[in-house]
Amino acid sequence: MVRQIHFLISVFVLSIVIPLFALEKQSMPDHLSNSTVLILLGPPGSGKGTQAKRLAVDYQIPQISTGDLFREHMASGTDIGNQAKKYIESGSLVPDEIVLSMLFDRIEKPDCKNGYLLDGFPRTEVQAEQLSKHKSMNTSVLVLCLDVPDEEIIKRAEARLVCRQCGAIYNRLISPPKDNGVCAKCGGEVYRRTDDDPEVVKKRLTVYRTLTQPLIEYYHSRGLLEHFDGSRLPDAVHHDLRQSIDQRSNRQ
Ligand code: ADP
Ligand code: ZN
Repeated sequence: MVRQIHFLISVFVLSIVIPLFALEKQSMPDHLSNSTVLILLGPPGSGKGTQAKRLAVDYQIPQISTGDLFREHMASGTDIGNQAKKYIESGSLVPDEIVLSMLFDRIEKPDCKNGYLLDGFPRTEVQAEQLSKHKSMNTSVLVLCLDVPDEEIIKRAEARLVCRQCGAIYNRLISPPKDNGVCAKCGGEVYRRTDDDPEVVKKRLTVYRTLTQPLIEYYHSRGLLEHFDGSRLPDAVHHDLRQSIDQRSNRQ
């Protein structure tokens, strides 16, 4: 009798555990196998923000965009926002000390302990060096580089619109907000960033080529970088990014 009861209990427990295990296996590719830091690198307007938002949902990790953080600071008129404004509006980089203290505050929040995704950081060798010393970098790091030619960047910036409230990105030509000027996701105001003005974009591109592009070699020489053709449609780029991340994550 006791044996029968044991047997019944075992069958009952297994009938719950096995399907749960199967479910876990099925959702595996959507989760990074250990805490991973993903870094999106590429010129302004190469699609980092668009892809970062999708990957953050796919892998359930926070997307940390230093550009978005600065825009939030500027909108709420904080000290950081006031200090950063003149650099951003002229297309220059915000000084490293300001960026680093803002970024470190963010990546030390509890939601980053299982990995996070950086979009727009690092942008200088000093930033990359400082980040490499952070404790979260002891785990695996993958740098995803989106390659897009300058002519395409200038075209995209001319067409880019952004939601002031949630940061959703639209394109006047390919994916305009349906309800003119209103964000479909949150109802916020969709506007054109002042730093997307063609003259400012040219300046940002020069800054990128001089200060940020050397990071490609920096991460490549450490075996951490993969290249992607960012001039294709967002879905195609997203597909390839996912494939690389899943492959790298399964190898560990
Ligand atoms: P994009 O990806 O289109 O270049 P972002 O939204 O990432 O634009 O950044 C907008 C601006 O914010 C940059 O041109 C720069 O002035 C400032 N900024 C953002 N991230 C950094 C950073 N890591 N270091 C220095 N300045 C930054
Ligand atoms: Zn919105």
